[in-house]
Amino acid sequence: MVKKICSKCKGNKRVKEFYKDSSKKDGYAAHCKVCREQWSKDNSEYVSKKAQRYYLNNKEAINKKKEEWRKNNREASNKYRKEYYAKNRETLVEKARLHYAKNKESRLEYRKDYYDKNREDLCKKQAEWRKKNKEYIAKKRKEVYAKNKEAILEKQRLNYAKNKELKDLNTVKGQK
Ligand SMILES: [Zn+2]
Repeated sequence: MVKKICSKCKGNKRVKEFYKDSSKKDGYAAHCKVCREQWSKDNSEYVSKKAQRYYLNNKEAINKKKEEWRKNNREASNKYRKEYYAKNRETLVEKARLHYAKNKESRLEYRKDYYDKNREDLCKKQAEWRKKNKEYIAKKRKEVYAKNKEAILEKQRLNYAKNKELKDLNTVKGQK
């Protein structure tokens, strides 16, 4: 058999145009590939639901198969991933950067929105946390201070000098 008539579009097509179906007498599906794909498109919700149901019903077996495949092909899949990354590094980095930039505003907005909505709660939580962790905070503060003593002192010195200068300047101005 070289050709077959599609029972849907009635087209006389080569068997290559049909999916194989072992449950059918001639070994090929009744509808041609084009009709089958159109049907899938028209029934995408049904198809995806069916796939979902199939997955749920066969989850364990599917995951086991996947896991087995991964185990057997670990080297190959690792190699593939590495090669893919190496080959597309620039594109991937650029994509990530663009994605980040594109979503920056909405991310900030979301955070602000979240903060606004939960301000009281967050403040309360923070205050509670502080109360509960007084010792921890004091310890941390001491640690940070000890670690950055020089830098902190230097900053204080600079600040003091700056303020003094300002003060002197104001005094001079005031005298005028
Ligand atoms: Zn057809």
